[in-house]
Amino acid sequence: MKKLTILGSTGSIGTQTLDVVGSEPEAYEVLGLAAGANVELLIEQSKRFRPRMVCLSTKALADEAAPYLPQGTKVLFGEEGLIEIAAATEADTVVTAIVGSRGLKATMAAIEAGKDIGLANKETLVTAGHLVMKRAAEKGVNVLPIDSEHSAIFQCLNGEPRSAVKRITLTASGGSFRDRTRDQLEGVTVAEALNHPNWSMGAKITIDSATMVNKGLEVIEARWLFDLDYGQIDVLIHPESIIHSYVEFIDNSIIAQLGLPDMRIPIQYALTYPQRRPTPTESLNLIKIGALHFREIDFERYPCLRMAYESGKAGKSAPTVFNAANETAVARFLEGAVTFLEIERIIEQVLSRHTVQDVTDLQAIAEVDAWARNEASSV
Ligand code: NDP
Repeated sequence: MKKLTILGSTGSIGTQTLDVVGSEPEAYEVLGLAAGANVELLIEQSKRFRPRMVCLSTKALADEAAPYLPQGTKVLFGEEGLIEIAAATEADTVVTAIVGSRGLKATMAAIEAGKDIGLANKETLVTAGHLVMKRAAEKGVNVLPIDSEHSAIFQCLNGEPRSAVKRITLTASGGSFRDRTRDQLEGVTVAEALNHPNWSMGAKITIDSATMVNKGLEVIEARWLFDLDYGQIDVLIHPESIIHSYVEFIDNSIIAQLGLPDMRIPIQYALTYPQRRPTPTESLNLIKIGALHFREIDFERYPCLRMAYESGKAGKSAPTVFNAANETAVARFLEGAVTFLEIERIIEQVLSRHTVQDVTDLQAIAEVDAWARNEASSV
């Protein structure tokens, strides 16, 4: 039986993880659930899955939830609570489904406690991939990708030595504005940006898909997960989101992973790896799909992807700045404080003001992250 803690259980990935668990309850035990502010859903999940511990983002929310939770449930709150729940209990796997680099400390705490990571929270690897993967290797824990593209690459690589890999290609749906020119992006609304054609996801990643920041974060995530050079990581627009990504080997043979766009497939694979089990999802019918299409990436159209590659290649503090500037810019866009195109301008400005420096521990990452957020708020 797999013992799980889910950080971000009330979000898109969190609820789909619990869907997978609920489809085969005898295979899983849920020991911890952490949410931000959705008290009602956390209570409902706790009644159903009976975790030993839960966590909410503030004491007020934890106090609000406490009377309605099953007797004996320990209630934690805040950043300290999140770190505690990530490391506590006998959970063998912690699913990191929180948004943003705020998931970093909890992820590291889980690794320190020897737990495997089901990694959805890509910002963690973007901001501190060198620290996270090093510590995971030292502790002998698995970092299993949940992101569909990385799960695809992970499945294609299965059993193949790295020396056999020529390159990988991450596919991109193109997001909500994939059929618009840059001129047509002036004045787009938050509601339009949130209307993703293929995937139903949280707000931040949906905006990141529209700006192509998401693919940039994934390029950096892939660099750390699979220990590749940036020159070996390509991106291709594939509007149908059926081929989730593929690997080209040195003999020019390509292995791709296909499926309908349903996150429960990669989520379950991260939970059951190396086994496969039936999922509560539909089969892919290629006759019904009819045709698959591909478009080359245009870095003029998607400057955020260019900046992500540049930040990744610069390394050190650059990806932390790229990520933090983007998180702040997206939050400002969602509040209606800046326009869609200003997201990329904010990132560009903050990166141009930054002098790349070594970041050798979590404290150094936190300081650079705070600096970048501050700059991004004032642009
Ligand atoms: P959502 O916005 O849907 O969910 C975010 C979760 O984080 C919610 O449970 C939210 O709680 C919780 N949260 C927010 N603040 C805190 C906090 N301070 N303490 C604890 N929990 C908090 O995001 P997604 O599920 O879409 O994305 C999660 C991660 O997975 C992101 O890094 C994203 O890039 C990645 N990902 C997502 C995919 C998807 O299909 N959605 C695909 C691939 C990767 P609450 O709602 O209660 O406030």
